[in-house]
Amino acid sequence: MRRIIRSTRLQIGLRDQADLHVHTTSSDGAHSPQEVVGMAYESGLIALGITDHDTIHGIADGLQAGHDLSIEVVPGVEISAGVGPHEVHILGYYIDSTFGELVEKLERFQNVRLDRIKRMILQLKTLGIELDFDYVLSLAGEGAVGRPHVARALVEYGYVGTMNEAFDTLIGDKKPGYVPRMRISPEEAIDLIHRSGGVACWAHPGLESHDEWLEEFVSYGLDGLEIAHPEHSARDTAKYRALADRFNLLVTGGSDFHGGEIGAGPYLGQCTTDYEDLDRLRDAATVMRSTK
Ligand SMILES: [Zn+2]
Ligand SMILES: [Zn+2]
Repeated sequence: MRRIIRSTRLQIGLRDQADLHVHTTSSDGAHSPQEVVGMAYESGLIALGITDHDTIHGIADGLQAGHDLSIEVVPGVEISAGVGPHEVHILGYYIDSTFGELVEKLERFQNVRLDRIKRMILQLKTLGIELDFDYVLSLAGEGAVGRPHVARALVEYGYVGTMNEAFDTLIGDKKPGYVPRMRISPEEAIDLIHRSGGVACWAHPGLESHDEWLEEFVSYGLDGLEIAHPEHSARDTAKYRALADRFNLLVTGGSDFHGGEIGAGPYLGQCTTDYEDLDRLRDAATVMRSTK
């Protein structure tokens, strides 16, 4: 039945493909969960993973929209973990978004985010730059506030010309207005995902260029690698596929779609997961839940 429905909206290239890395207005995406699910349906994808930064607030709406349109929505999250000064993103798939401990921990991360933005505004003040905390918060709307919102405020207050300039001169890593963020370790992130009944994948490992961390992450129980990502070259994808084979890991792919202006960033379905790999991921999550 599903196949018949799908054939009417099939687009070349996306048949049997899932985009497992998508952000919504619950974090820093431009589209609501309902909108991204609708877009995934229109584009002919078989499944969509909603993976907002450190929040699961968009999942219930996404699941409902997926149910209404008969497209699979994979409940996910992208947790920001830290290795020393580096940020590492761990994707959790098929998590139980109502699991109390997960809800509480992610709530706490949001408070840490708020606190960091406050400290960043104080730090900027010492540089003669006045930003209003509530205004920065309002720029995040329903989503999780972060550095991009501070950057936007700096543009709108006229301190810099562009958001890139804000990062390059003021709030990027090691710049005078930068405040580091408290993060959980990859081990804690993987463990939290497992306890939430999900499987854990290292997001866009090619962005970190620290492949030597992989063995350690595997020892913590890492389940998979995001091999296909817009920032990965074909060579990266092949390399991470080979590493996944070597460590017996699952493989995924996703666009890291955030919405926004056409042509500005990756588009939905730009990078995807094959349906066989999606089946493996789902099976692994089923095993995870049954052994809990
Ligand atoms: Zn990421
Ligand atoms: Zn992402």
